[in-house]
Amino acid sequence: MKSKIIKFTNCSCTFYTEANWDAIDTICNKQTTYIITDANVFKNHKAKFEKRNVIVLRAGEMYKQQATVDAIINSLLQMGADRQSFLLGVGGGVVTDITGYAASIYMRGIKFGFVPTTVLGMVDASIGGKNGVDVGLYKNIVGCINQPQFIFYALEFLQTLPLKQWRNGFAEIIKHAAVCDATLFNTLANHDINFYKNNILPLQTLIAKNITIKTNIVSADEFETGIRKLLNLGHTLAHAIENTYNLMHGEAVAIGITAAAFISEQRGYKNTLNKVAPLLQQYGLPTFAKFNVNKVMDILLLDKKKTGTGINYILLIKIGDAYIENLNAKTIKKYLDAFIKA
Ligand code: NAD
Repeated sequence: MKSKIIKFTNCSCTFYTEANWDAIDTICNKQTTYIITDANVFKNHKAKFEKRNVIVLRAGEMYKQQATVDAIINSLLQMGADRQSFLLGVGGGVVTDITGYAASIYMRGIKFGFVPTTVLGMVDASIGGKNGVDVGLYKNIVGCINQPQFIFYALEFLQTLPLKQWRNGFAEIIKHAAVCDATLFNTLANHDINFYKNNILPLQTLIAKNITIKTNIVSADEFETGIRKLLNLGHTLAHAIENTYNLMHGEAVAIGITAAAFISEQRGYKNTLNKVAPLLQQYGLPTFAKFNVNKVMDILLLDKKKTGTGINYILLIKIGDAYIENLNAKTIKKYLDAFIKA
């Protein structure tokens, strides 16, 4: 097992990579640790949870709501969790987002850590300290920024991850490459999901690369006042269509990245759409959906990235070089109308 400490503004987070689940007890105390997981992870990895304090959530984005956090708080109280207790989120992005938020408010804040069990969780959702829940259809509208004590990478969990969830994770990996790493983009273009599913060493290298990309950006701008915004490539549209059209997060992001590349071309930056769309397709991701532009605009205008004058849209100058442009609602609507007709 390797470990690396990354410093953030108020604390640091240890990344344990190339780890095995068996080593988790060397990092957190079994008696005072309360695991939060979901029904799928629990069912597929039952033996790992034996003789532990476990709260099992129903799986899925639709349960990433305040009511689930309230239920967790009640369970923690019943189980006797106190200020010294530790919350360990073992699951995908839904579980880690909820765990970080529940830990941040339980008894005004207790310590927590993550064991991400999806590709998306490993390369993105568990990193960076953004925690929270959705409110109805509005994604991640309630929450906080608070770093976990550690993130523990046990790739053995991925053995049970369904193929569509692997694809989901690769949307964020392709996003990282498109935003800031043209070399990674080219590496991805030479492979496919099966290659990474069946070759643990390249997979470990890929995950390590993505941890570095995300931690470099987050530690430079933890509270998203500058370059961290670039990681929202594809997410402005994704958040507006994900719940409305019942898409997986990665699918919605893939469509969002394609739309962003389309808009980039309209702004004069050619040579991105023709690269990004085929790569997303190569990894089994959608690049188009026929959405209702008026409905999407309603949601976009409530999005957290909206400013007084418009929406900060993340666009691409070229592969590996993203930028932020403030576009007004009328302009975005014009481009989205053109995108769904293209
Ligand atoms: P998820 O947690 O819903 O997991 C996807 C599915 O895979 C679920 O059905 C889950 O039960 C199942 N699963 C998880 N691990 C498994 C395993 N090892 N074997 C079998 N099944 C398994 O979703 P996700 O795609 O991991 O994450 C998406 C969420 O992450 C969204 O809510 C998104 O908003 C959030 N997110 C957060 C951040 C952040 O910075 N906090 C960044 C990106 C995404």
